[in-house]
Amino acid sequence: PLVESFENALTKLTKAKFAVACSSGTSALHLACLALGIKKGDWVIVPSVTFLASANAVRYCNADVLFCDVDQETGIITPETLNKAIVKARNKGLKIKAVIVVHLTGRPVDLKEIKKIAIKNGLKIIADSCHAIGGTYSGLPIGNCKYEHLSTFSFHPVKTITTGEGGAVTTNSKKLASAMKLMRSHNMIRTNSDDKMWKYTMNNLGYNYRLSDIQCALGLNQLKKLPKFKKKRSQIVELYNSKLQKFYPKIITPKIPRLSHPKDFSWHIYSILVNFKEIKISKNMFMKKLKKEKINTQVHYIPVHTQPYYKRLYGESVLPGCKKYYERTISLPLFTKMNDDDIDYVVHKIGKLIK
Ligand SMILES: *Cc1c(COP(=O)(O)O)cnc(C)c1O
Repeated sequence: PLVESFENALTKLTKAKFAVACSSGTSALHLACLALGIKKGDWVIVPSVTFLASANAVRYCNADVLFCDVDQETGIITPETLNKAIVKARNKGLKIKAVIVVHLTGRPVDLKEIKKIAIKNGLKIIADSCHAIGGTYSGLPIGNCKYEHLSTFSFHPVKTITTGEGGAVTTNSKKLASAMKLMRSHNMIRTNSDDKMWKYTMNNLGYNYRLSDIQCALGLNQLKKLPKFKKKRSQIVELYNSKLQKFYPKIITPKIPRLSHPKDFSWHIYSILVNFKEIKISKNMFMKKLKKEKINTQVHYIPVHTQPYYKRLYGESVLPGCKKYYERTISLPLFTKMNDDDIDYVVHKIGKLIK
């Protein structure tokens, strides 16, 4: 019963008509791709600066990934980079079926413009919203599906809210939601009748992508805390922004995509851009030195197209925006229990490193 309650809570949050809970953000992406009928012979455009799962889900369907460039300042797919990918696909004669856009770090993709391009080119849109739960885009909750066909979430422990492991897909299509509900449990349909009480039917292959009642109980409780988490994370981001300003242009705080406002975001990751050439320290040394001061940093993400698996499939791709973003990006600690002293400490140690 709590699975349904959790799904209802997710529809309340996102104001999408349907939510389908599942076992992870990855299975959410896989279910979304399956629901759109993505299959062998189809190509799906995916920005290369994302977690592996956004691209892997396409491969689970035996379809192919066309990696797309991103804005070099935000790491986010833009109407311009999407258009470039579509031109590339057309020149190569690829059959593009969909695009997966990623609200990287919690800053929303320009879905309105993306939708216009998608309609013009006959593409479906999946929004990988794993970073952005609780945020808004153009006055609507992330995952609302006004602009995208499906939106996916992850409740992995590192995410803004967690169920231990877990995920969900939201949509306004009853047909897509029903299809995903069946697929998450072996595509098993109860067809019991008076003369065969036990009967069930499997017309198509399905999976065990269910989320358990226990996990949904945790998820319901986490959802209640989401507004508090969002507010706290946003305060930390604002404090970082103001305190790191003095290091500009050696350090650049997260650029806000056009037509959006940081107040509306649900920040999952705080990524700054560091001019490592100018400060004459490598990214690795920078991270190592901070680690010595007990400050953990991360890189979000290694562009997926550079992974050996994808290079073997598609060869080398030239994506200059991804490269320029990746060279400079580094993520600083961002968690709700951080206090002002912690932020001062991180900023102070960074200041000593860049001098
Ligand atoms: C975490 C994440 C996923 C995968 O979610 P899991 O729950 O770990 O499977 C997919 N996409 C993005 C952008 C993510 O951050």
